[in-house]
Amino acid sequence: MIFYGFNKITLLDYPEKIACTLFLAGCNMLCPYCHNSQLIEKNNFIETYKEEDILNFLEKRKSKLEGVCITGGEPLLYNDLSGFIKKIKELGFLVKLDTNGTLSEKLIKLCQEVVIDYIAMDIKTSLEKYKLLTKNNEDFTKEIKQSIDFIINSGIDHEFRTTVAPIIVEFEDLEKISQLIKGCKNYYLAKFKASEFAPKEYWRNNKNNYSLEILEKMRDFMLSKNINCKLRANY
Ligand code: SF4
Repeated sequence: MIFYGFNKITLLDYPEKIACTLFLAGCNMLCPYCHNSQLIEKNNFIETYKEEDILNFLEKRKSKLEGVCITGGEPLLYNDLSGFIKKIKELGFLVKLDTNGTLSEKLIKLCQEVVIDYIAMDIKTSLEKYKLLTKNNEDFTKEIKQSIDFIINSGIDHEFRTTVAPIIVEFEDLEKISQLIKGCKNYYLAKFKASEFAPKEYWRNNKNNYSLEILEKMRDFMLSKNINCKLRANY
């Protein structure tokens, strides 16, 4: 496998673990605020890392790192992911997988083939508004629901998380999300942060962003729905 980004150490990406993060290129969505939009299409200007070099690095960091986070893009687009994860597990690392939840069958198959220790799934918005974040108006309703049900009932440590981007996430969307993820372990709201790489102009600056006060109201709203909701400390 070829990786399009490699963060050698992170205290943030894997809850309560010292980890590194690997980025895979390619995504089947097109979130208009995506920070990793250079990763959506395999961009020739990005430095790449070979699987063998990553495994050599991990071999030398066995005593220092606890986990490996695999993110994207969308990692589940890669059919050889389970083979790579097996090699990481043989070295003794915990594995965290980030996913947008649209490839539910692949998620379930992967978890049958290898041990995944932590899954973080994005809940972009209410199901009705997912089309705002797709490339060709795809309907991912069935897949998103299947991924959520699988994760909640899998026994795997997990979180769901929503980037609270203006227009895309409003209180009425949170109401619907609270129904979808009932029974989840952890749910995080992350403040939207503008990026110059965002595919759509509107999301390249922060002027339309929600205030911290609104975010706190959103968190309290989710708590009132019995969702274990926290604000991710990125504001
Ligand atoms: S799911 Fe959205 S935010 Fe995540 S990599 Fe794909 S386009 Fe970007």
